[in-house]
Amino acid sequence: MLGMAACAARPNLLLATCYCVRLANELILYQSVSISMKYVLIILIALLGAAAWYFKDRMLLSPHDSYYSALLRENLKATAEQWKMEAEQSLAAPLRISLPYSERRLLEADYLQPITFAFDRKMDELIQISIFPSINTRADVFVDVFYVRDAATEPKRIGSIAAREQQIKIAAEHTGQYLVRIQPSHAAQGLMDIAITSPLRYGFPVDTERENAVQSLFGVDRDGGARRHEGIDIFAPRGTPVIAAEAGQVARVGDTPRGGKNVWVRGDQRSFYYAHLDSIAVSPGDSVVRGEVLGTVGNTGNAVTTNPHLHFGIYKFAQGAIDPLPLVGRKKLVTNYTLPQVELAPRWLSIKTDKANLRSGPSLKTVAVTSVMRGELLQVDAIAGEWLRVKTGNRTTGFIARSLTEIPSESILTLTENYVAFYLPDEFSPVIGNFSAGDKLPTMGRFGEFALVKLPGGVYAWAKVAKQEKPAQN
Ligand SMILES: [Zn+2]
Repeated sequence: MLGMAACAARPNLLLATCYCVRLANELILYQSVSISMKYVLIILIALLGAAAWYFKDRMLLSPHDSYYSALLRENLKATAEQWKMEAEQSLAAPLRISLPYSERRLLEADYLQPITFAFDRKMDELIQISIFPSINTRADVFVDVFYVRDAATEPKRIGSIAAREQQIKIAAEHTGQYLVRIQPSHAAQGLMDIAITSPLRYGFPVDTERENAVQSLFGVDRDGGARRHEGIDIFAPRGTPVIAAEAGQVARVGDTPRGGKNVWVRGDQRSFYYAHLDSIAVSPGDSVVRGEVLGTVGNTGNAVTTNPHLHFGIYKFAQGAIDPLPLVGRKKLVTNYTLPQVELAPRWLSIKTDKANLRSGPSLKTVAVTSVMRGELLQVDAIAGEWLRVKTGNRTTGFIARSLTEIPSESILTLTENYVAFYLPDEFSPVIGNFSAGDKLPTMGRFGEFALVKLPGGVYAWAKVAKQEKPAQN
């Protein structure tokens, strides 16, 4: 039993259970324990197994789930529920973007709603999310990645991070829609850059930066339709280095009628096939790193009548040939993604024109989701290059070109009734004063049912005004 006690004290319960089962088996095998002892051991093993199972589930909580639980434990039930509800609402109403996408977000305790972005990826493509908080930013940002099989099924979470971890890289397991939800902690403060990119999964297999190197695509007919092209052809002058797209071990080197001089590299649960080489620089069993020279471009095998090119194929375990193009790109890339420089924007802006469209994404090619009129305020949530991600007074989120916006000018609003002065454009927010009928006050514009009005003393407050209260133009 001493052995049992020692193994129960081990921190990893799953390992401990395995260890105990083995120990029990040995003890039983050598008949060094009595029959009743055997049952005691079996019960103990079952208990340990149950404990391991329980803790395994606890350990699988995402940082998002853990933060929600932490709020509950700190007796911030209302905050926790609000935080969770906003997360669910955001996930149900994603904004479509194309990658790469980046935005700069000013985090203020009062304006911390989560945002969910949607985009399509092909199987095996990478999704990379990077978080760059500015110095002294006091925030956790919870990033959750979901795969949407179809409209009828709930999005399936496939990855999570908290901002401290800075970066997450996930390979798409299926072709389809993916969601990225970004939610700051409830009292966050600071500045945060967020980038969602899709770096190429593998390196380009030929040392060439020329355009149009890839000329024959995956899946096109071969031998008069008898078979499909199980790779891509990359054209380059004879002698151009053929380089490993991914690290692995050289499994085979050969010279065959179809592929000519060829190299197979096994790695990352896939086999990489390089064919029609002019010369081969590796031997079976060699370990290669990404970018290592495997040989040179040629036209051996059945390519003897065509210009020198590399036939490059990727074969996935238990699946066969897959299209390499989305995974390696069209030429060797030399630059990495860098965050664009963006200027901050004020929290509240209005439009320069009489009317402007809000779009579903940061591009003129996306659809208009709603329109806004002059005098309406837009709440700026983030800056995405030349575009702003904003919210309208009826809580519609969309993008507007920054060039269409301006700092709102003041006009004078004459109040016809007594109003309460709210801290935020929300009637559940703190009341910070009163407006009286007859007050003539500078106003910046309207946001839904609220007008942003300057109180005597220079403090801004929100008045929930009747519809007919319109500022006089001055
Ligand atoms: Zn080919």
